[in-house]
Amino acid sequence: MENAELIDRYLDLILEENKTTNLTRIDSKEKARILHIEDSLVALPEVNRAPEGLYGDLGTGGGFPGFPIAVETGRKAILVDSVKKKTAIVERCVDKLGMSDRISTFSGRIEDLAREMPGKFSVLTARALSQLPSLLELASPLLKKGGLFVCYKGEASPEEEEAAKKVAKKVGMTLVSKRSLILSDGETHREIFLYEKTGKPTVKLPRRVGMAQHKPLI
Ligand code: SAM
Repeated sequence: MENAELIDRYLDLILEENKTTNLTRIDSKEKARILHIEDSLVALPEVNRAPEGLYGDLGTGGGFPGFPIAVETGRKAILVDSVKKKTAIVERCVDKLGMSDRISTFSGRIEDLAREMPGKFSVLTARALSQLPSLLELASPLLKKGGLFVCYKGEASPEEEEAAKKVAKKVGMTLVSKRSLILSDGETHREIFLYEKTGKPTVKLPRRVGMAQHKPLI
């Protein structure tokens, strides 16, 4: 099966599951093609700059951007979410499409994954998960040196970006690029922040579960 068809079938399976479990508020296929598939794939150029190796999607929900990115890059992937019901559905859909040898899920908090697999990832993504400072703290301990973190943001405020600069320094991450675009619906604004793991954090990571999101290191 072609990659595009595989991703399209995955979306069908997720929209079917969405009738009984709340995975996404977008229920029309036409809209979902833009807001889930097209949006997931806009960051392919950034993801493709990463060194070879494992890919992880943090707070994957219904598997976006994780599934499309995993298929298009051909990388081994782990899609992470703390809600078991969601990872169970993602796993079922991945299995139905015969992709479970390459794409798996981790059901638990990102902080717990960082304890199990420190420094094991070459590239990470996160969409609609948290503010930049918390995201940087969560991603850093999972990445190997030279690994990349791709953040999908709506429109980050100047305050959020300023706070992210401070936290990036503390967690050994460096901003590589920032790119803004509008999706093909003509109205959805997307910003892609690309960070590289360049050094050692000056604080011990991961901190206790919930700290990154509730008490950022600003
Ligand atoms: N990335 C998907 C998307 O853009 O469609 C889902 C976004 S949803 C708003 C955020 C997801 O992150 C939720 O499914 C939530 O369970 C998960 N999440 C939030 N904090 C988390 C954490 N610390 N560890 C693992 N998952 C987390």
